[in-house]
Order: sequence, then C-alpha cells, then structure tokens
Amino acid sequence: MSSRNSLFEVRDLEKHYPINKGLLNTEVGRVRAVDGISFSVERGETLGIVGESGCGKSTAATSMIRLEEPTAGEIRFEGEDITEYSDEKLRRLRREVQMIFQDPDSSFNPRMNIGDAVAEPLVVQGLDDVERREAIVGDLLERVGLSADDMNRFPHEFSGGQKQRIALARALAVNPKLLVADEPVSALDVSIQSEMLRMIDQFQDELGLAVVVISHDLGVVQEICDRVAVMYLGEFVEVGPADELFTDPQHPYTRALLSAIPTLDPDDRGLGVKLTGDVPEPSNPPSGCRFHTRCPEVIPPEGIDLPQETWRNVLHLRKQVLIDSVDLESIAEVGAIEAGGEFDDPADTQPEDVDNDRLARWVREEYEIPARLDDQTAETTLSQALTSLVEGEQEVAAETLTEQFETVCEREVPETRSITSDHRVACHLTDESMIGSTDSETEYRQQLSSPSE
Ligand code: ADP
Ligand code: MG
Repeated sequence: MSSRNSLFEVRDLEKHYPINKGLLNTEVGRVRAVDGISFSVERGETLGIVGESGCGKSTAATSMIRLEEPTAGEIRFEGEDITEYSDEKLRRLRREVQMIFQDPDSSFNPRMNIGDAVAEPLVVQGLDDVERREAIVGDLLERVGLSADDMNRFPHEFSGGQKQRIALARALAVNPKLLVADEPVSALDVSIQSEMLRMIDQFQDELGLAVVVISHDLGVVQEICDRVAVMYLGEFVEVGPADELFTDPQHPYTRALLSAIPTLDPDDRGLGVKLTGDVPEPSNPPSGCRFHTRCPEVIPPEGIDLPQETWRNVLHLRKQVLIDSVDLESIAEVGAIEAGGEFDDPADTQPEDVDNDRLARWVREEYEIPARLDDQTAETTLSQALTSLVEGEQEVAAETLTEQFETVCEREVPETRSITSDHRVACHLTDESMIGSTDSETEYRQQLSSPSE
C-alpha cells in the first residue's frame, strides 16, 4: 500500500448485501452499497465523506471499522490489517476507533443515566475507581458544553443536539485515535450543526485526533475538513483537498452538490446545476459511469454537436422511448388544445387524429427539443426516430436512438485519474481523448477549467 505511514488505509473496500429469495434462500442479487472505495486518513486529519442519501456513506463507515464485516477489501490501522484481527485486537480497535451514529437516540439506553453512559467505555477498559471515573466524566461533560451535574440525568431530558454532544463526550472518554462521525448533525438545525462540528474540530486539535465526518451536505463539511471524498452509488467519484474541491471541482456530481449549497448570493456558484431524480438502486447500478443517468454534462457521441441542454433533452426523450413512456395521447390532447379551434373536440383528440409530422413536432415541444436541430446528423436520426414513434413503431424508434445517440458515459466505466498528487477523479470529461473538438465539447472544457465563472 502507500509508502506514507497513514493512520488508517482502506483499499478496494466492498460491502454487498445479498438479496435472497425463495425456500432455498438463493441469492438472486446484491445490494452494492459500497463497491470498491480506497482512501487513507492521516493522523490528526479530518476527512469528509459526502454524497446524497443512499450513496453508501453509513455502510462505508460501519464496514471500514468492522462494525459490519466487509465483503472484500484491505483495511489497515497503524499499518496492521484489521480484517485479520483476533478478538483481542478487535477489542483494542473498538477503543481506539470511536463512532458517533446518525441517530443520537439509538446510542443511548433510556434507563441508564448520562454519567453511566459516558463512563461505560471506561468501565470496559477496566477503570474501577468510581471517584476517578466520575471526575473524568464530569470533566468531559463540561468540555462538551454541559455541566458535571448533568451526569445524574437521563437521555430523555436532553435535546437532540445535547445528546450528540454527550455521545461525543463518551467517544472521547477512551482517548481514541480516530473518530468516525456519521451525519452527527443531519437532523439538527444549522447553528447546532456548526457548533457540533466546531467542537469536534477543537478536540481534534487538542487531542491530535483523526476524524472522518460523513454528511449529505457539502456545506456542512466545508468548514472543518482537510480532504473530502465525494461518494456516488457505492463509489468515490472525486477525492481531494477540501480547498481544491470547493474552488475547482472536477466531477459533475461534485459540482452539482456544490451548487446545492444554499448561499446568500445566487450567482455565487455559477453553474447552477440542479440534481434531479433519485440515486438509482445499488442492486442494479447504471452501466458505464454510474452517474450518467443524472449527469448534466453527459458527453455526446463523436461527431454530434448540440448545445448541452438540447443534448440532455434528447437523452431524456431517448430514455422515455426506450421504456415506452412517451405519452402520445396526452401529447395529442395538449397539442390540440393549444392549437385552438382547429380540432372538433380537442380534449378528446387521439394521436391518429393528428398528422404525423405535426405530432412529431409536438413530441419535440413536450421534451423541449427545437423543431430542427442544427447538427444535421443528429437531426436526421431524431426525425427518423420520431417518425417511427408516431407511427406506432416504438421499438424501431428505440433502436435508432440507442444506436445513434450512444454516449461513452453509459458505455465505459471511467478510469480514476490524478489531477494533482492528492486529487483524483473518475469522469470521462477529464480524459482529453474522450472529448473531440466540437463546440459544445469545447464548452465543457471551459467549464472544467473555470467551473465557478
Ligand atoms: P447513506 O448513509 O449514504 O444514506 P447507506 O449506507 O445507509 O447510505 O445505504 C446505501 C445503500 O445500501 C442503500 O441503498 C440502502 O438501502 C442499502 N442498505 C443499507 N443497509 C442495508 C442492509 N442491511 N441490507 C440491505 N441493503 C442495505
Ligand atoms: Mg447514512
């Protein structure tokens, strides 16, 4: 593995959940929650893992520290392979690596008072001296902004934010080397979020603690992370120093997450990309680049030159044709109503009542595609496919569109490339050879080199 002596190193980590069916409980599929991630955490460093809900962040957290058994991969803590740890060594690891969970309520026994909860890891560690234990617990509670007297109170007497601080006190009681905080603040309001993260940050400096912070919100980690890993559908699409990632994001997914951060200045994030739709099912991830089904910057096929938005809309139409979801009936009705007076009973107009060319034009309108594409090759393909479609030959249309409008993004898995020694990204846009010299492609490159203009 790397020559640096990292505190924590993960290589090709996978966590798959089998999907079993039937009497024989046969495996019929796998949820690829974590599907081959590699990273390291240095001593004293803060690494952020960000991505939308369902991308595999929590699974990455629990399997990297073996709270769940990984399906595959190598994990080293202080140079030792922890996947081969004996029970004894695993117990030591449980002390040196502490985790704060997403839901504070799940981490407390409602019948155990706060003092006993925070003292629990100390007891496990063999600290029998009650007075010394109480002194440590009181001190910890005060350091997370509560009072030593709180040790006699019970979890339900505290707010969510306070409970997370108590969880932090408990995690720190045993002087860990690594703290993994899984959305420690996702459910709480923004000011409590920053307060909690600042508190972690402050302890970190004091204790030389390494921290992995997980969040679906890139804005939340911006303040405190040295490095950030952006996760999509079980994979890291971009990893780099936080300042580089925020000023010069390379992956369209990173850019989309960045533009989702609320700012006071609406022009601040430039590209203004909006993520639409949900994260696809990890049991059946998209081919090629897993992000291509939602990517705002999908690369057009060679020789086709369309403005990005038009190209996106053509892709969207292609997808709808493929799954036979173009609703010709309602397109005919809406078109007839908008045509005004020309049709006897506009609201009851059938696709057959409209001549083919006209219906094809309405389909374009519905999908916000111009009546004529400037690119002649693309125009020929599209009009051919639309003719088939309105003639009821959906399968022929689907075939034409699939063959002629196939993008490298859906065909090939992007390689992970290094931008700088510590910044890597997996996107075809970073591969010069994937990008021709047509206008829209030049645009991509300009966007790449100056993403926030
Ligand atoms: P995140 O923390 O980023 O929201 P998770 O790690 O919780 O994502 O989940 C990643 C994917 O794995 C999701 O599709 C989720 O439904 C699935 N998943 C998580 N835990 C299990 C499990 N125990 N069994 C099956 N699927 C799971
Ligand atoms: Mg989670």
